[in-house]
Amino acid sequence: MKILKPARRVDAVPQVNVAELVAQGVQGVIIDLDNTLTEWNENHLCPEIACWLEELKCHGIKLCILSNNKEKRVQTFAETCGATYISNARKPRRRGFLRAMSLLGTTPENTVVIGDQVFTDVLGGNRSGLYTILVNPISRREFIGTRLVRRLERLVLRERQPRRWRKRFFRQKTKEGQP
Ligand SMILES: [Mg+2]
Repeated sequence: MKILKPARRVDAVPQVNVAELVAQGVQGVIIDLDNTLTEWNENHLCPEIACWLEELKCHGIKLCILSNNKEKRVQTFAETCGATYISNARKPRRRGFLRAMSLLGTTPENTVVIGDQVFTDVLGGNRSGLYTILVNPISRREFIGTRLVRRLERLVLRERQPRRWRKRFFRQKTKEGQP
């Protein structure tokens, strides 16, 4: 079940400390779209997340949006924030994560994955050897299939996250975001 555990959990994307990522040598972020950056099928970007994206840019961390949603939806959003993207990614398959790293020019050692779903973002990221950060979904409004999967997620997340991941990336850091 370890493969379903995120290395870290935070409430929302802006709680991922960019300076901390830089300090850990992170060069690329693979991020989910729906319910991670925006509400499901919405294009509105809240000021806090817009600010966070800007901070990433300022620190030279590259961003790739990796989404299972359709091309048009993902492209429209990616263009507004000037990010590269991969749509119809079929997460948790590894292929999308590997393609994203190839677009970013990064490796599993210096790339993190951020997303709101255990069975797509976390599972796919872990399978690809990446550091995974799980956020709470922005909104409860989502695809009906996802709503059913959330029940299973809650079961999986009841267990504590593995220590070794915490040690590896965020040694002696705050307890912020820990369940
Ligand atoms: Mg999502």
